[in-house]
Amino acid sequence: MGLMNSLGRFFSEGVGVLAGGLIYSAFNLIPLIGPFAAGFAASVFFCGGVGRAFKLGILGGFLGATIFLLALIKLEFLNLSAGALPAFILGWILLVWNAFGLLACGLGAAAGVMARDVGRFYGSFFRRQGQPEDCVVYRICPVCNEGTPERTGFCVKCGSVMA
Ligand SMILES: [Zn+2]
Repeated sequence: MGLMNSLGRFFSEGVGVLAGGLIYSAFNLIPLIGPFAAGFAASVFFCGGVGRAFKLGILGGFLGATIFLLALIKLEFLNLSAGALPAFILGWILLVWNAFGLLACGLGAAAGVMARDVGRFYGSFFRRQGQPEDCVVYRICPVCNEGTPERTGFCVKCGSVMA
């Protein structure tokens, strides 16, 4: 793999992780389906196999969870400095919530790559099916001059064996 190829791949996957993170943070409160959708969407940019997509999905989810939690703190929905019990409990709930979210995001990315591979497989399968049959080679019978498909091995008109 050349340098430009590696760079292109790195850039594409970086965009995927970033996009996944942004979608993840936006869909954070939709249980499991939100992060799964974020990973699935991000997988469009991922270049490797299912395992790699899973890891990149988790990375995107981690970015998204960080954005989401920082936004909550910034908007003072989650006041950590107060030390109040509700904020503490809410913080833990959000961490556990996002642990499942990360997993769902990774699974979504893996599912996205799997769906793409399956799509490619069937795409090439149906293209193969749509192609015309192999050319049939005809030969002229030396006895009766009738054209006959070479693969039959004998003349379809007079029955003489084709060498
Ligand atoms: Zn013949």
